[in-house]
Amino acid sequence: MKHLSILGATGSIGTSALDIVRMHPDRFQVKALTAANNLPLLCRQIAEFTPDMVAVLDAAKARELTRMLTGPCRPDIVFGNTGYVQAAAWDTTDIVLLAMVGSAGLKPALAAIDAQKDIALANKETLVMAGDIIMSRAREKKVSIFPVDSEHSAIFQSIMGNQVRDVKQIFLTASGGPFRNTPKEAFAKITREDALNHPNWSMGDKISIDSATLMNKGLELIEAVHLFGVCHEDIQVLIHPQSIVHSMVGYRDGAVMAQMGVPDMKQAIAFALSFPDRLGLDMGFPDFAQLQSLTFHAPDTRRFPSLELAREACRQKGSLPAVMNAANEVAVQAFLDRRMGFVDIFRIISATMACHTCIDNPDLSGIIEADQWARAKAESLI
Ligand code: NAD
Ligand code: MG
Repeated sequence: MKHLSILGATGSIGTSALDIVRMHPDRFQVKALTAANNLPLLCRQIAEFTPDMVAVLDAAKARELTRMLTGPCRPDIVFGNTGYVQAAAWDTTDIVLLAMVGSAGLKPALAAIDAQKDIALANKETLVMAGDIIMSRAREKKVSIFPVDSEHSAIFQSIMGNQVRDVKQIFLTASGGPFRNTPKEAFAKITREDALNHPNWSMGDKISIDSATLMNKGLELIEAVHLFGVCHEDIQVLIHPQSIVHSMVGYRDGAVMAQMGVPDMKQAIAFALSFPDRLGLDMGFPDFAQLQSLTFHAPDTRRFPSLELAREACRQKGSLPAVMNAANEVAVQAFLDRRMGFVDIFRIISATMACHTCIDNPDLSGIIEADQWARAKAESLI
């Protein structure tokens, strides 16, 4: 039996994880749940999964949740960053699913590591901001970080049974998002609704916009550098519109290992939670006879400059990845709030990064300072 803390329980990843728990009640027990919002759903989750504790965004939400709970399960209700940190370090938890969105994941990630809890990591922003600190602290505390991101799970699965020192190249695949075939001239007219309409995956709003700008792939490039200890130059991004090959690993003898499956996050989430076991899931295989072809091509960095911005962040390192991440979070939110257009997202991130004086090897407070600086800068530019 594994005891779980699920951070971001009401989101796309969180609800899929709870579907897996529902399918395998003999393997998993939920100890802690957190969510920023959607209290009605959180209430139903509390009644069904009976956690010991729950954390929500703020004191008002905590009071509201207390009022809403009418059933026999009465977990401890806490709130804010301290609440999320408590959920991540909950005494009886074995593994923490970090599935909240954005930089809010950083402190809970560190708290989980310090409490020696393994992590199933969906929240890629945390590694982009502070990958060096997270990975070295996890090594020091002998904590395993299992990737939930489908590409990183695919890389992880393609490395199993091989030696990391034999890896020569990683092929990071991307669907290309909803604007894969949209000409650059039409980008100015892209609306919030167009951008949220992902062709292959159903996800939260922020990552859907990140997928539309390809910044998601930029964030994943940095995530892979940290998770697998490779140089960004050894990672090739490939547009693969069918989303069947979730990524590939090339070895020095020329062998290439790919991990495939239908585009459904449950496989990656379940494997991160149950490693090294594979769980039975209600999932078929791709219909290879119908598919006929799997295609791959290089991304168009002229239309999608995000990948180049992420590579620049990899080259300069230090505080620049945190700055890129923060500027992206602010820009995406402004686009979602209809305060600016789609192409402005690229402009704001690029201009914020250009204004930053990079700090080498920042400690945690240096990273948080850079994050705050970038948020203010991006807002002022907007
Ligand atoms: P989502 O928006 O559907 O859900 C986010 C969850 O986090 C919700 O429970 C929400 O209440 C909570 N949350 C939001 N803001 C918060 C804050 N400031 N503090 C604490 N909690 C907060 O997001 P998602 O699509 O499930 O994505 C979650 C994370 O997983 C992101 O980092 C994303 O990049 C990553 N990821 C998602 C997918 C996917 O298919 N959805 C795939 C790979 C990686
Ligand atoms: Mg991904």
